Amino acid sequence: MTLKGKTALVTGSTSGIGLGIALSLARQGANLVLNGFGDVEGAKAAVAALGVQVAYHGADMGKPAEIEAMMAHAAATFDGVDILVNNAGIQHVANIDEFPVERWDAIIAINLSSAFHTTRLALPGMKARNWGRIINLASVHGLVASAAKSAYVAAKHGLVGFTKTTALEVATSGITVNAICPGWVLTPLVQKQVDARAARDGISDAKARESLLGEKQPSLEFTTPEQLGELAVFLCSAAAANVRGQAWAVDGGWTAQ
Ligand code: NAD
Repeated sequence: MTLKGKTALVTGSTSGIGLGIALSLARQGANLVLNGFGDVEGAKAAVAALGVQVAYHGADMGKPAEIEAMMAHAAATFDGVDILVNNAGIQHVANIDEFPVERWDAIIAINLSSAFHTTRLALPGMKARNWGRIINLASVHGLVASAAKSAYVAAKHGLVGFTKTTALEVATSGITVNAICPGWVLTPLVQKQVDARAARDGISDAKARESLLGEKQPSLEFTTPEQLGELAVFLCSAAAANVRGQAWAVDGGWTAQ
């Protein structure tokens, strides 16, 4: 239990990668502030079953005033946030000349600007305690591009840049800031893309998964939320105290090509 007594806030932690990371941090004893939509009660129960304290705030990560309310809720409940995981994210796939303006704005707000707001509000407490871990869920799309994902690629490249700047601003402190860059992880966000491919090509779900992996991910295996959770635990450990400003790919070889 390396994180007993710490509080972690994971945005978008009712599903997929965020829930996987919340569970890994809770296994190490961290209390959790969960956030996100959908099966809130299921996520709360899964984390609470690990014997830690759990709070929840339903802030929309696209809305700065709601983010401020969430950070105030975390401070009031647990006396601040020691581990901040900026994970909430959405996707929209379309070519630029057909990209809905409203989707562009939402992706930039939720996938990029929300991390600025949570970070600016979490840093004063971390500085006062001279300890903190900020982990930004970027993507391989923070390192390389794919067609038809302009807003997502722009937001994730922005998030990697924001990670580096934040890391430098706190480089002489006990606060570290890093990004995790997964390739394909089979979550609801990716299942939508599998469904679209199956419909487009008239193939089964299994064939669509195979073809998705075959295009980009040499291991031909999905990364799992559990694997990303364990990497987050490592980044929170003393062994990672001097890992700063990195964008750590977990992508089955995608960006090695
Ligand atoms: P997911 O759809 O399973 O989960 C997204 C989470 O974010 C959910 O809890 C959802 O409720 C929450 N969320 C969505 N919009 C929100 C909003 N406006 N405010 C608050 N919460 C909101 O997706 P996932 O695949 O687990 O993705 C998590 C993160 O990992 C995202 O930032 C995504 O870009 C990134 N990522 C995913 C993959 C992948 O292959 N799945 C790869 C690389 C990076």
